[in-house]
Amino acid sequence: MHIHDLIGVGFGPSNLALAIALEEGLPAGHALNALFLEKQPNFAWHSDMMLDDTHMQISFLKDLVTLRNPASPFTFVNYLHQKRRLSDFINLKTFYPSRLEFNDYLSWAAGHFEEHCRYQEEVIDVVPEKRGNDVALLRVISRDSRQQIQENLTRNLVLGIGGVPNIPDCMAPLKGDPRVFHSSRFRTAFNQQPRARRVAIIGAGQSATEIFMDLNGREDIAVDFITRARTIKPSDDSPFVNEIFNPDYTDYVFNTKEDSRGALLDEFMQTNYAAPDMALIERMFQVFYLQKVSGSQRHRFLRRHNTVEASADAAGVHLRLHDMETGNVHSLTYDVVILATGYQRQQHHALLSSLQSYLPEMRVDRNYRLHSTPQFKPSIFLQGSCEPSHGLSDTLLSVTAIRTKEISEALSRCPLPMPAYPAKHQSPGEVHAAAALRI
Ligand SMILES: Cc1cc2nc3c(=O)[nH]c(=O)nc-3n(C[C@H](O)[C@H](O)[C@H](O)COP(=O)(O)OP(=O)(O)OC[C@H]3O[C@@H](n4cnc5c(N)ncnc54)[C@H](O)[C@@H]3O)c2cc1C
Repeated sequence: MHIHDLIGVGFGPSNLALAIALEEGLPAGHALNALFLEKQPNFAWHSDMMLDDTHMQISFLKDLVTLRNPASPFTFVNYLHQKRRLSDFINLKTFYPSRLEFNDYLSWAAGHFEEHCRYQEEVIDVVPEKRGNDVALLRVISRDSRQQIQENLTRNLVLGIGGVPNIPDCMAPLKGDPRVFHSSRFRTAFNQQPRARRVAIIGAGQSATEIFMDLNGREDIAVDFITRARTIKPSDDSPFVNEIFNPDYTDYVFNTKEDSRGALLDEFMQTNYAAPDMALIERMFQVFYLQKVSGSQRHRFLRRHNTVEASADAAGVHLRLHDMETGNVHSLTYDVVILATGYQRQQHHALLSSLQSYLPEMRVDRNYRLHSTPQFKPSIFLQGSCEPSHGLSDTLLSVTAIRTKEISEALSRCPLPMPAYPAKHQSPGEVHAAAALRI
């Protein structure tokens, strides 16, 4: 079986940026011996939240490569040049392209790595491959589009698997009900409910607000915007605060004592969590203001309301809401309930559970490499699940370009693992490519 130098699980922006960094680090004429496995049928960046008039929340200069290598052919600026839109984009006078355009940029970049990525293949397990007492390799088990189990061997692994929907406990009994879904499935799931008129959105962050504006633009839909918060506060992207997203701030967070790091992250939560853009908040406020002018209340803003229970029948989805101001509990019925309740980033624990005894702490070093026991030779890196140790930029695009530089450099320093097979079983191409990655 072919042995890869690297398998990447997921092919979102993080692992795409890594593929570029690795390829740009190869000596001329050498091929990349890496495989990426992506469960979606093609490259797509949060496709169910690709709504009209939504924009990037960070500068296009924080694209896949610029902070690492501004001369890379994979810059957003070169993408614009290739698409013959550079002058037009300049006339837009913005740092914040539409999400539609950024997704097109990412897809364009991903298109250059088709031969290194297998789509519609979900990794379901990673098991140790032992040689004597040592774990020399990893066997990556995946399920392909035909539901066939595939196995691939690798010397190193990088997980770039993003987040999974955070579902409040009280909504768990309605799992599988097509009328209740997470914001990450919004476009597809909502289109499957053509008769929805009464809609609840739970949450008060960027996604909740974007969905509210989208539904406001559709006829005959009345929305209850339900949040525990007292109000909607904007994301703080003022320049000094924004410094926390600079790549060198990662060192500061990582070097902060573990017992103080939580407080540091809490201090800046408002930059990223439950904090929509100011412009979006202003548009939403205007909708509510115009309701007051017209005297017709189509939407309601149910602030300080906690959803405590949910049930469903043919009449609709029933939410029991605790009014935190009055203490009253009352029930409301909806055709659709949308959970804009954020993401969890603990999936790597489940995916790596077969390796648990070799990764006792599930802790990463500064280069995002998981600590392991001495007999475990492969390196496993995490992209996007290191917020507690590396800071709030970790789940965003802010440090992607630099993080992939750090990971590719760490990969090049990885100790040569034990040969999996005697050299005579390896094709010259494999030996050559394996050596090439260790730049
Ligand atoms: C709607 C929305 C808008 C956002 N906008 C911004 C923004 O403007 N700026 C910003 O900095 N950040 C933004 N973010 C944050 C977002 O996390 C990053 O933009 C970016 O998507 C992170 O890239 P990633 O590759 O780490 O994760 P993801 O983009 O989530 O990609 C992970 C990939 O892994 C795949 N995958 C997961 N598990 C498996 C498996 N077991 N097997 C195979 N494949 C798997 C998934 O299908 C997915 O394609 C936004 C997030 C959302 C939800």
